[in-house]
Amino acid sequence: MVLGKQGAGKGTQAVRLSRHYVVPHIATGDTFRAAVRSGSKSGLKAKHYLDAGDLVPDEVVNGMVRERLSHQDADHRGFVLDGFPRTVGQADALMAMLEPHRLDVVLNLEVDTSEVLERLASRRVCADCGANYSVHDNPSRVLGICDVCGGEVVQRDDDTESAIRRRLELYERETAPLIEWFADRGLLANVVGSGPPDEVTDRLVAEVDRYKRLAGS
Ligand code: AMP
Repeated sequence: MVLGKQGAGKGTQAVRLSRHYVVPHIATGDTFRAAVRSGSKSGLKAKHYLDAGDLVPDEVVNGMVRERLSHQDADHRGFVLDGFPRTVGQADALMAMLEPHRLDVVLNLEVDTSEVLERLASRRVCADCGANYSVHDNPSRVLGICDVCGGEVVQRDDDTESAIRRRLELYERETAPLIEWFADRGLLANVVGSGPPDEVTDRLVAEVDRYKRLAGS
């Protein structure tokens, strides 16, 4: 599971880890954005939380993740969780859902707030598949068009100044306490999230492998 501030690189790195270990990438933010795009009832409900940068209530998110984890792919081969849990209530619910199994490791991507703010300002995403780009470091090959699926590359609706401020405030209040929560359970690995993305991926893979070896021994 990948933990970290908005803009720390969770999405990019979680996709890389899911490819490396050939397991599904489960990103609650992507699921909500897809629901909003589809115009479904649950999407409409989620939209005002997302636009304001607020957290969707625990019961809604927990129900969604419980359902997703019950699918055969996640059940058999494991998964990379991205953006969940974000509150202690969600972490409790996750541990109960996984019984009798446990998480292999919680990867805490550490990036300074000043760097995160810069990254969020230059972040662009594919409106269709959620692939992440940066106008400075990692633009799509053709401007505005996704390399992966040909979808439209846009700025996220919630990457506005007020929603970013709100999301970082909620991160400090609701999500940062999870760092200690998982450390107390022997599951936390802190990983430096700045520097070239390939190097960050190498550091993450090394931690996952180390925890897997420990669990196996
Ligand atoms: P993300 O793409 O992970 O930054 O998530 C985008 C938005 O989706 C968040 O700002 C929340 O409104 C909502 N969201 C995603 N994951 C969660 C979660 N675990 N708990 C509550 N809200 C969430």
